[in-house]
Amino acid sequence: MRTTRKVAALAALGLTLAACSSEAGSQAEESASSAPTAAEDVDFPEGSTMAELNEAGAITIGTKYDQPGFGLLNPQSGAPEGFDVEIAKIVAAELGIPEDGITWTETVSANREPFIQNGQVDMVVATYTINDARKQVVDFAGPYYVAGQDIMVAEGNPEGIEGPEDLAGKTVCSVEGSTPAQRIRDEYPEANLVTYDVYSKCADDLRNGGVQAVTTDNVILTGLVAGSDGAFELVGNPFTEEPYGIGMELGDTDFRNFVNDVLEESFEDGRWADAWDRTAGAITGEEAPEPPSVDRY
Ligand code: GLU
Repeated sequence: MRTTRKVAALAALGLTLAACSSEAGSQAEESASSAPTAAEDVDFPEGSTMAELNEAGAITIGTKYDQPGFGLLNPQSGAPEGFDVEIAKIVAAELGIPEDGITWTETVSANREPFIQNGQVDMVVATYTINDARKQVVDFAGPYYVAGQDIMVAEGNPEGIEGPEDLAGKTVCSVEGSTPAQRIRDEYPEANLVTYDVYSKCADDLRNGGVQAVTTDNVILTGLVAGSDGAFELVGNPFTEEPYGIGMELGDTDFRNFVNDVLEESFEDGRWADAWDRTAGAITGEEAPEPPSVDRY
């Protein structure tokens, strides 16, 4: 017995009909055409996570809510927006789940593993670096992007910070449970590390002079610089590799293979680059890079 649904295909049709009848037709058409390509016909092995999610027509996804370009809550719609969000929507569509079947949950850096382990989310797409310590407790599909740790400073770089070595004796902010915070602790102990639960609080501290620098992935910092009205600048000297994966329950190899297949398809057929152009790329003004190679470890 196999399950077959056409939920997402019908949802896409609904969007098209809405576009025809809506006064703001052109706007609705635009969002219809930029929606992830829905799976026409989805057929999953019975008992698989894919079949369960498909039958429920619903998925709970963890993402960030304060990172412009990757995951930023739109207070009007109540839903997050960004590259991570678009990647998650592509996976949901391939599961036959329409956008209104997605329940978004804010996952901050420190609660991603527990939220996956407790089953509070079905997957996490949240600037989530794949690494060996995390692989002990969760599985990762991907990577679907490779960022690098960098440093953000006040406009004009008054402290002359050009790289992590220059953080010695300075106050630098990052987020608890993140790889950048851990790297500062492990490799740059001369820096005075301040941590919060989210990066927007670090940005607030940099603005009011409470810290002299903020460190995390370059793409997150780029979004914060873009929203700072010229108050911040990026040092632009990335010193690590942060491969972003989609986190999921440990041991669900079928689901991981499925998500890896979806990512590879989206790299090939242009949906990945299109998602980039409409989100992070619109902030940086940079074209979509070459997608990374998926690591089926
Ligand atoms: N990519 C890094 C991590 O997963 C930093 C970004 C974040 O905290 O989400 O920890």
